[in-house]
Amino acid sequence: MRKLLIKGGSLISPVNGFRGEQGDVLAVDGRIALIRDRIEEESREAEGAEVIHAEGCLVTPGLIDIHVHCYPKAFLGLDPDVLGIRRGCTTVLDAGSSGADTYEDFRENYIEKSRTKVFALLNVSREGLLRGHELDDPEKIDRRALKETLDRYGDGIVGLKARASASVVGEMGFAPIEMAAEIAHEVKRPLMVHVGNYPPALTQVLNVLDRGDVVTHAFHGKKGGILTEDGRIIPEAIQARDRGVLFDVGHGVASFSLRVFEKALKEGFDCDLISTDLHVENYEGPVYNLAAVLSKAIACGETLEDAVEKTTSAPARQFGLKELGELREGYIADFSIMELAPCDEEAVDAVGDSIHLEKKLVLKKTIYSRGEESEIFDHIAGK
Ligand SMILES: [Zn+2]
Repeated sequence: MRKLLIKGGSLISPVNGFRGEQGDVLAVDGRIALIRDRIEEESREAEGAEVIHAEGCLVTPGLIDIHVHCYPKAFLGLDPDVLGIRRGCTTVLDAGSSGADTYEDFRENYIEKSRTKVFALLNVSREGLLRGHELDDPEKIDRRALKETLDRYGDGIVGLKARASASVVGEMGFAPIEMAAEIAHEVKRPLMVHVGNYPPALTQVLNVLDRGDVVTHAFHGKKGGILTEDGRIIPEAIQARDRGVLFDVGHGVASFSLRVFEKALKEGFDCDLISTDLHVENYEGPVYNLAAVLSKAIACGETLEDAVEKTTSAPARQFGLKELGELREGYIADFSIMELAPCDEEAVDAVGDSIHLEKKLVLKKTIYSRGEESEIFDHIAGK
């Protein structure tokens, strides 16, 4: 049994009505036991608790990064805890590193051994991201193998993933994405589609997506993106949003443009979800971690509350992650403790543009629970 009392932080979990008010949180046996304006250390409930001082810091539900690559045997992959706990996220979704042929190995050798909670978006290609051109041959989409994997491991697979980029689909063009959408709708799982270089065209991709599907890299700066030549939102994106399609940042090494995001915000087309696309080529910059991506989004005009919601309760709801993503009594005791610190810095995006930061989110502690155990990771100097 372990009791933790997090004292004096500014609680942020908009879905639970916490918008920065100071409060105390007590965790007992890996669960959130009590949230009050004040919980005395001497109180019966908190007796024997380890006290964590969070004065001057934000206390949010453990951050959820819905786009990382944490299957080390796949292209660009790193260990789940390197991209999860050590980067301030208690839960991550691996976005398509594994497919039907490799998920079992990913699960046994990495997911089950990590301290970070890892869910998978299973690649529709049976090989996942082993080589990097996973949809250039129709043989690589094996519906039967995919369904068998889903039936066996449905608890750990919360959706499907397909990459719609010229380098991935080769001569196949739009066909693999159309198949991916068809399969996802048949098995009733959300499909996350990576959008990038033509072909296939973004408009075509958007037209086959439906409620709950996610477009990641939605604000990339490549040709044929979400903006028209004159800087308006393409009608297909507006129609897709009206159908319930969600738009995710997915920063990545070449997939987020501050200028595109700012223009989209100005047009009233905000993102629904915020993620990093962390992998071996960007985790030491320019992406670093989810908090750093949130700092850029906030500098572009996103509110702190929205930024937290889009990385906690919104992804938990979207992907059916039970008892995660909220500051709610009875939920799993996962927390991110950060400071919103004043600064005077430039932050760069994935296309070489920059933005001035007057404040940024600095990681302090990540608290994560499994079963009845809670652990604390201290981020030294924000890392
Ligand atoms: Zn990715």
